[in-house]
Amino acid sequence: MNPLAPTRIPFASLTPEAVRHWVAREGFPDYRAAQLLRWFYRSRASSFSEMTNLPRRLIDQLDTQFDFSTVTPRQRRSADQGETSKYLFELPDGELLESVAMHYARTPGRRERTTVCLSTQVGCAIRCTFCATGLQGLKRNLSTAETIDQVLAVARDSGRQARRVGQLVYMGMGEPLHNLEVTLASLRRFTDSNALGLGVRRVTVSTAGVVPGIDRLALDGGGSNLAISLHAPIDELRDRLVPLNRRWPIAELLAAARRYAQSTGRRVSYEYVMLRGVNDSELLADGLGRLLAGELAHVNLIPYNPIPGDPFASSSPSAIDRFRERVRSHAVECTVRDTRGRRIDAACGQLRAEAGPAARQASSRPVAGELAGLPQN
Ligand code: SAH
Repeated sequence: MNPLAPTRIPFASLTPEAVRHWVAREGFPDYRAAQLLRWFYRSRASSFSEMTNLPRRLIDQLDTQFDFSTVTPRQRRSADQGETSKYLFELPDGELLESVAMHYARTPGRRERTTVCLSTQVGCAIRCTFCATGLQGLKRNLSTAETIDQVLAVARDSGRQARRVGQLVYMGMGEPLHNLEVTLASLRRFTDSNALGLGVRRVTVSTAGVVPGIDRLALDGGGSNLAISLHAPIDELRDRLVPLNRRWPIAELLAAARRYAQSTGRRVSYEYVMLRGVNDSELLADGLGRLLAGELAHVNLIPYNPIPGDPFASSSPSAIDRFRERVRSHAVECTVRDTRGRRIDAACGQLRAEAGPAARQASSRPVAGELAGLPQN
């Protein structure tokens, strides 16, 4: 790298307002900012020069001053007949990041939709004992631009498949509330009508239970959905599965969830990974039902996705059904999550950015910001 070369800043680090200021300073009328923002957030263009109705001088300035994206696509793998795709991105410092897109066909009463599962950290400090991301510990937080750019890169690729991203879930690598400012800034951008423009109700932030972060999200998160990774209804067990429980035990966590539901009017969802012989007994289902009875709550049971080398196994489908019925018997809503992306390690808790040989090879040569020609299987 030439140390004298001017450093470019990530375009996604600019808010729409900052983009308008910049465009004005460069001497262009306001409508150019609107065009530029539309190209950047809502089109399939993968470089500034593809923004064909912008004046050449504006494009040149953009190229000189900004990086179009901070994430470089290295690999896309698909499963479930192409309905689930896992993306591997390389960051400017060589770290790797994973994101997942899940496409859902139209069903009676529900529109066709694509959900993106996004990451906020490389690795994670919480170290839930059954989670692949926790195995590597925390490497670093993502920047706001990296967090946004991964979603835009997935959205562009989905757009090429004539699919529109309609939902975002902060359920990839990392703990969003440990990277709180970035989570809030990216959430604002995703829901800003001058940027991605998603309805805030289409965004879900999932946390292992960072209580002060939940309160802050209630204040500044604009009313997004909150998911809490509960995994056990009693502290003794939760301490072992989610070590953060020692800091904020279940009673404090539930109180924060209640405050969240009250101030936003949103129903909180509770995630519960089904671990055979560990947290799946009917006694614990009763405990969970009693704990949440009367709350504005919904329980999502997640069949455990095995991580090679760890001691857990998933509960059987019949054990999961029995557990669900027991929880429901307390008048608590309870459903079982599908197991998308298992074959390509793209399911819940399997993201680890452990690049296979294909990605390593690919990363030794530069590729354009296009996913289409990348190794896939
Ligand atoms: N740190 C956030 C986001 C993490 S991932 C959180 O804890 O909520 C989203 C969900 O996947 C969490 O509920 C997490 O506990 C769950 N999960 C992690 N590893 C899993 C695995 N191996 N099988 C199934 N679910 C898992």
